[in-house]
Amino acid sequence: MSIAERLATVHARIERAAVAARRDPAGVELVAVSKAHPVESIRQAYAAGQRAFGESYAQELEAKAQALADLPGLVWHFVGHLQTNKAKIAAKYARVVHSVDSAALARDLGKRAAQQRVEPLHVLIEVNVGGEPQKAGAAPSEIDEVMRTVLAQPSLALRGLMTLPPAGDPSAAARIFATLVSLRNLHGGVGALPELSMGMSEDLEVAIACGSTCVRIGTAIFGDR
Ligand SMILES: *Cc1c(COP(=O)(O)O)cnc(C)c1O
Repeated sequence: MSIAERLATVHARIERAAVAARRDPAGVELVAVSKAHPVESIRQAYAAGQRAFGESYAQELEAKAQALADLPGLVWHFVGHLQTNKAKIAAKYARVVHSVDSAALARDLGKRAAQQRVEPLHVLIEVNVGGEPQKAGAAPSEIDEVMRTVLAQPSLALRGLMTLPPAGDPSAAARIFATLVSLRNLHGGVGALPELSMGMSEDLEVAIACGSTCVRIGTAIFGDR
């Protein structure tokens, strides 16, 4: 299958899942996660109409953003773990950072965004819902502090929460997505945190059923990494 065909299949999955959940499919954004795939693949997805692309490594984002600067309307999302010393790159090239997981990172991104951008940088707080020790993300008990730090930075716009469930366990994913919804409700609800970034190639249907507004899809569009 071509990238255009895979993309169409993903759109059909999103639409079916949204309809099954009695939701408007337009309320679910598709971010095509292009990490580890060449710029030629991104050009193919762009030619098929895709505009939002996600990257996980700052240097790869920078190289691809420069190589694809000729594509109008292309929007970068940073979805990987971000070290504070790479905040400058994310603030320069991304419109949305899905992975803010500490007050220190929020302060650094705020400072860099103020230097690098006119429009505020949209940010989501990544939450390690399952408390998995090896995993990035703020603990649920830290959400409040990270939220306050983001809100104190005029160069950042707080948009919502993001999570990444353990791979290969759809029932665990459903539990984790439902917990992220509860955490959103505990911290100001849809008004404070309108976006929920959850759902990947294998679990986008579950995520949409739970209320995802943004699915991050790599393999189902670009193939194996
Ligand atoms: C790689 C990645 C994805 C895409 O995962 P697929 O299973 O390939 O769809 C989504 N989110 C994050 C944070 C990732 O690192």
